[in-house]
Amino acid sequence: MSESHTDRPLEIACPQCRKKVLWTSENPYRPFCSKRCRLLDLGAWADESHRIAGETAMDETDIDAMLARADRDDPMT
Ligand SMILES: [Zn+2]
Repeated sequence: MSESHTDRPLEIACPQCRKKVLWTSENPYRPFCSKRCRLLDLGAWADESHRIAGETAMDETDIDAMLARADRDDPMT
């Protein structure tokens, strides 16, 4: 009776890229597979709110700049 199901992580699909990702405390970006996917999802969300406000949507250049800054600030690396 040494087996335990409690240490078996839940496997989910990343909402952004549909990649399989384990739902564990070691993944700070869950339910996303990575910081990039999480930021892209936030970018999509911001895009929608901007559209509601009638503003110009965030373009890819903004997302790239945001990702570059996030990579520098990433405490995990
Ligand atoms: Zn992903």
